[in-house]
Amino acid sequence: MKTTAQVVVIGGGVVGCSVLYHLTKKGWKDVLLLERDQLTSGSTWHAAGGFHTLNGDPNVAMLQSYTVGLYKELEEISGQSCGLHLSAGIMLADTPERMEFLKTTVAKGRYLGMATEIISVTEAKKYFPFIDEQHFIGALLDPNEGHLDPSGTTYAYAKAARLGGASIEVQTMVEALEQKPDGIWRVITNKGVVECEHVVNAGGLWAREVGRMVGIELPVLAMEHMYLVTDAIPEIEAYNKEAGKEIGHVIDFGAECYLRQEGKGIVLGAYEKACVPWSPKETPWSFGQELLQPDLDRIAPSLEVAFRHFPKLENVGIKRVINGPFTFAPDGNPLVGPVRGRTNFWSACGVMAGFSQGGGVGLALSNWMVDGDPGFDIWGMDVARYGDWATRSYTNAKVRENYARRFSIRFPNEELPAARPLQTTPLYDSFIAQGAVMGDSWGMETPLWFAPEGSEPKDIVSFRRSNDFAPIKAECKAVREAVGVTEIANFAKYEITGSGAEPWLLHMMTNTMPRQGRIILTPMLNPQGKIIGDFTIAKAAEGRFMMWGSSQAQVYHMRWFEQHLPNDGSVHIEALGMRLIGLSIAGPKARELLQRLTDDDMSNAAFKFMDYREMEVATVQAKVNRITYTGDLGYEIWVAPEYQYRLYQSIMAAGADLGIRNFGMRALLCLRLEKHFGTWFREFRPIYGPFEAGLDRFVKLDKPDFIGKAAAEKEKQDGPKRTRICMQVDATDTDVMGDEPIWVDGKVVGWVTSGGYGHWVDQSLAQGYIPSELVKPDMQLEIEILGERRPARLQMAPPFDPEALRMRM
Ligand SMILES: Cc1cc2nc3c(=O)[nH]c(=O)nc-3n(C[C@H](O)[C@H](O)[C@H](O)COP(=O)(O)OP(=O)(O)OC[C@H]3O[C@@H](n4cnc5c(N)ncnc54)[C@H](O)[C@@H]3O)c2cc1C
Repeated sequence: MKTTAQVVVIGGGVVGCSVLYHLTKKGWKDVLLLERDQLTSGSTWHAAGGFHTLNGDPNVAMLQSYTVGLYKELEEISGQSCGLHLSAGIMLADTPERMEFLKTTVAKGRYLGMATEIISVTEAKKYFPFIDEQHFIGALLDPNEGHLDPSGTTYAYAKAARLGGASIEVQTMVEALEQKPDGIWRVITNKGVVECEHVVNAGGLWAREVGRMVGIELPVLAMEHMYLVTDAIPEIEAYNKEAGKEIGHVIDFGAECYLRQEGKGIVLGAYEKACVPWSPKETPWSFGQELLQPDLDRIAPSLEVAFRHFPKLENVGIKRVINGPFTFAPDGNPLVGPVRGRTNFWSACGVMAGFSQGGGVGLALSNWMVDGDPGFDIWGMDVARYGDWATRSYTNAKVRENYARRFSIRFPNEELPAARPLQTTPLYDSFIAQGAVMGDSWGMETPLWFAPEGSEPKDIVSFRRSNDFAPIKAECKAVREAVGVTEIANFAKYEITGSGAEPWLLHMMTNTMPRQGRIILTPMLNPQGKIIGDFTIAKAAEGRFMMWGSSQAQVYHMRWFEQHLPNDGSVHIEALGMRLIGLSIAGPKARELLQRLTDDDMSNAAFKFMDYREMEVATVQAKVNRITYTGDLGYEIWVAPEYQYRLYQSIMAAGADLGIRNFGMRALLCLRLEKHFGTWFREFRPIYGPFEAGLDRFVKLDKPDFIGKAAAEKEKQDGPKRTRICMQVDATDTDVMGDEPIWVDGKVVGWVTSGGYGHWVDQSLAQGYIPSELVKPDMQLEIEILGERRPARLQMAPPFDPEALRMRM
């Protein structure tokens, strides 16, 4: 075995082998894969081998599409068959809601160039002849679905990697990982030590244990999963002969199961509600190519429905039942990328659909390792999307919830209950007592909206406007006409200190830094000139800055900041988390309210728009920004958590005669739409440039160098290819949810990033991106909402306060 390598990949399942292959494809030849047993010895060997391109996150769907398209190339390079069966797939809708879900799925796929379409049940039956039509109302057809040979595919990756220069050692168990002061990893195995620059954790079923070797607890858990294979069914043979093809894959949401042809029989797998984690604390190293004890009773409810839906199957014999474990992250998507706080330690695990996603994971990770960037927007798979709060037991609860809901609809206004409440602020009980409907925001409970007295504080989940519509309208009205208060604890907050703080921020961000006591807004770019952050920064004192950003991106951003800190100790950055939490007051009476809580001069002349102050509010030491995301007159007041209750009570008492009212996160997001404000992860993501996103005024190309400057200059010079646009939509009872296609002249030209109802301006609003050359003030647009193309108009100026006088009043 080699004793040095540039990269050691731990794990020879489909994912490790894909990473290895993609590294060689990127030109890294000195790469070594270590496998404790034989290749495929984890969950890979007993997979059902199904693949498809659909995913709730369009960016992950794109990588799935890449994976499916890769197999032909892999067979050609390796000479090894992947056993491909491109049999097409159908998803069957048994309820109107499911039909709406399928329509949104097809619509989302349009701008990704996916060939999915809605078909009738009669047409669906041409792909799967056993359907009893009376149970269904329609279907989605995906021609790019199929199945393959899991082992053949893994060996094809391995062979192609070897041909590209990689080495593979089987029967080589990684027992420990150590990092030397110079950053070189010592990979300690049963066959000796390998020293390398980079380690990739593709440990699959043992990814947690490999993580623990470097002191981290990855949010990943294996679940038992069962599928059965039936005896031969004569009708299948007849169908194959007559149609000259296999029967198609099926997802039956009602029965929560999937089906496909295997030999002349059927594979039927279920995602059962009574699901069972496997090895919840530790995966035994002794586990090898063995299966778990089947328990058909567990999937009996699925089988019962499936037999009703496909009556022919009821009397077919079962040839064998497979029960095997495979891993999931809490949201079911992979955990990919560099692990924060560990130099050159990369994650490629939690891949629950290795044959749909393995290629995309290998591509993204190898790009990241070689070029310093994944090359795509892979936020949906980034290992940095979880924080320390995603503990082992949190993961256990969430993975079980996710598994049991694999074939359930997630409505746009649906909050999932497992492992909640997790993090709460001191106001949690008080908000609940006032009828708050809470949402989960990166592990933290956040008020979404407040149910009026006498009504149940609960979302009625729907794709359409729901029971929160009227209460949110009332909350927005209170803000626009008087004053509202909302909790803003769920922001990321940072303090940056040190003699090098200002030059460092100037280098990291596109904007110039503010004078002391002032605030700026700024995007942050990667070297490719794409938006990787969107921050509010206040200069508190010489060498001390406060900064606010997206809470969900806190680990993602800290990973980036720490990678770019100077090593002379001149800059210190700290994520303050729950040590600083906030309340925002907004509306025309916000100043009057704040003035009642302080003896400092709050007049417009003394405390201007975009000012920052450290001052006492209601006797509490606070950091106050004169800025709000509502686009109104307003303030963000930040305090230590032990003072939040007092601050809130004081605000409510002082605002009583001003008409103060609680407003939640949903009202806040509606109010920002009326001002055309974008938001991180929707309008601002690493696939957009700052000029495309309309952030021109925050990009100071005349200041000395900053990360991404050259690319930003080029974007400006060439002109942005796409433009973020804001639209008013002729909606009926449904507003956009995000990811809908935008049509111009009968063609899909772009996509919606977010939207909703502007309650104060009484307009259905949407934002999205289209090619810049198409943007014309009087252009006719259409947005496909729930399968219906609704007319939309471009809004050149925000419908609320286009001159931005309210924020400055
Ligand atoms: C019953 C069942 C049906 C499935 N059906 C499908 C399907 O239809 N389609 C689909 O896409 N997916 C399916 N899956 C999921 C699929 O199997 C996984 O997504 C995939 O196998 C994950 O591959 P992996 O490489 O991440 O992990 P694994 O296959 O678990 O590979 C990890 C490897 O790492 C090795 N390893 C771990 N630790 C060490 C160490 N310390 N030293 C050396 N080696 C180490 C292990 O021995 C193992 O070989 C199914 C899974 C099951 C159980």
